Amino acid sequence: MTAPYRHQNCYEKQYPQHQSTVTIGTAAFGGAEIPIIAGPCSVESFEQLLETSEAIQNLGISCLRGGAFKPRSSPYSFQGLGEEGLKLLSAMRLQFGLGIVSEVMTPEQIPLAEAYVDCFQVGSRNMQNFELLKALGRHSKPVLLKRGLAATLDEFLMAAEYILSEGNPNVILCERGIRSFDPATRNVFDVVSIALLKQRTHLPVIADPSHATGRRDLIEPATLAAIAAGADGIILEAHPHPHKSVSDADQAISLSDLAALVPKMKAVANAVNRNVSLAVEGVLH
Ligand code: PEP
Ligand code: MN
Repeated sequence: MTAPYRHQNCYEKQYPQHQSTVTIGTAAFGGAEIPIIAGPCSVESFEQLLETSEAIQNLGISCLRGGAFKPRSSPYSFQGLGEEGLKLLSAMRLQFGLGIVSEVMTPEQIPLAEAYVDCFQVGSRNMQNFELLKALGRHSKPVLLKRGLAATLDEFLMAAEYILSEGNPNVILCERGIRSFDPATRNVFDVVSIALLKQRTHLPVIADPSHATGRRDLIEPATLAAIAAGADGIILEAHPHPHKSVSDADQAISLSDLAALVPKMKAVANAVNRNVSLAVEGVLH
């Protein structure tokens, strides 16, 4: 079957100011305000999520992240709690009203995750898993699509197109660093890609300083740079006991580091005429 001819890709702007907004729970990505998504790399336990959720809610952060299906480099590493992890996440949604973001790796995991999450994450390793992208395109829940480990921006945008072309308009792009030669950082944070993507697409563009740097001591400058570059949101790995994190321990920040970072994010956002979106007692301000 030949694909239908299109004059324009769905990701392209139809007019210069064209900007889409994608909502996860109460957080709108792509508007004047910049929401934050925070939480552990992997869902580990009820206690871990409870402590994290209490802290992020106190800060006014409205979205919780946590991996239940983990794409690990080694098959012998912790693979995630699976559905049990999703249940723990959705318990936090119930108790705290947080929007839930969690990764799916196969089309079969979508119906399982659907009841528990508010946004499906597609990880870097699956950016060109076209069957997964097409299946997510047939759903209406938002998709947080991470840039592939070595993906060009054209490949990244075309991966988004696979979701959009199936009818799901709710795609958020996430710059999370790309592979390079220097092991000093886990990846190279392509901060300019945020500004470039925002020129090329109406889709919201967020940044993941955690995977981009792989080092907790670099999260602050990378986060602030992303906001200055025009990011529509920030996703951060935060853990009640970073050193004990079962995955990505080197890049996890503590809940107190997260608390110290938020006012700095606000200051930089204000400097570029934007605001960090923080909800207190259900009221956005
Ligand atoms: C993650 O968010 O924990 C993750 C695995 O990210 P990435 O796909 O960007 O490596
Ligand atoms: Mn991680």
